[in-house]
Amino acid sequence: MTQGILTDIDRFSTHDGPGIRTAIFFQGCPLRCAWCHSPETQPPLPVPVYRKMRCIGCLSCLHACPAGAISPPNTAPDNGEPPGLALNRELCARCLRCTQVCPTGAMAPSGRWRSLEEICELLSQDEAFYRNSGGGVTLSGGEILMQASFAEAVLLECRARGIHTAIETCGYGSTEDLLRLAALSDLIYYDVKLLDPEKHRQYTGVDNRLILHNLEALAQTRRDIVVRIPCIPGVNDSPGEIRATAAHVRSLGLTRLELLPYNGAAPAKYEWVFRDYPLPALREREASYYEGLREIVRGQGLDAPQFSRQEDKES
Ligand code: SF4
Ligand code: SF4
Repeated sequence: MTQGILTDIDRFSTHDGPGIRTAIFFQGCPLRCAWCHSPETQPPLPVPVYRKMRCIGCLSCLHACPAGAISPPNTAPDNGEPPGLALNRELCARCLRCTQVCPTGAMAPSGRWRSLEEICELLSQDEAFYRNSGGGVTLSGGEILMQASFAEAVLLECRARGIHTAIETCGYGSTEDLLRLAALSDLIYYDVKLLDPEKHRQYTGVDNRLILHNLEALAQTRRDIVVRIPCIPGVNDSPGEIRATAAHVRSLGLTRLELLPYNGAAPAKYEWVFRDYPLPALREREASYYEGLREIVRGQGLDAPQFSRQEDKES
């Protein structure tokens, strides 16, 4: 059976490409962007995700954990919130038994295996919405290149049904896989975080040479790629950095560069996975700041569309 691990399936999305879409989010990402809005999608296999507000404190998860990774909090916070559990990530073996016994869904797996047949069933239910709205299916993540075979199977199924397809990628993966998936996609969103290799490594954990190489390889096959920069205040959103990236995009013969504004809500999710947000608190920029950056992009001869999705694409 063809299967993949997905963190979410968002039906009737209007933020992930044209029209009404089904956005399919893959578990696993090779990058560790310091600003990532979806840290629960990063590990290649599902991890426990804890939503404190749903917890009734029954401690079933604690008793079910074979590794002794879960412990009750020592003290209740004085802000009126429930105290919440603690989880030692070093001890956690990711067996997910805690998620199986939780009566409220407060402790839940970040992702689960889904079969191609399940996806096909959803496509059958929603095909009329795609047709009537000019929509389709978008594969996102995490990073789809981590599960390229499953992504390919879904895209082939969409193609067979005449459904519009889009992919979102960080470009860090096999060039061969990327080109194969791109050939099955009507629309490609490609993230470029930083041109500076040292800064890229510092903030994402990986070198950017493969990402830039893959973008170049892709640009040789088609020009309609939408390059996107997740703009992170003080990290990569200075006018000079945006200008340099725009010039690079233009040098590849591409024409579209989309700026994704920083979302100040990103840190909240780190509590769900028992992690601290890696960056200091950052302030969101004014809309006028982004308009100025878009002017810079246009000044490089590129189309700078308004962002299509602002809430969570800084991964
Ligand atoms: S997933 Fe981790 S915390 Fe949950 S039961 Fe398994 S070892 Fe314990
Ligand atoms: S099993 Fe669920 S509700 Fe009970 S303490 Fe654990 S997370 Fe909270």
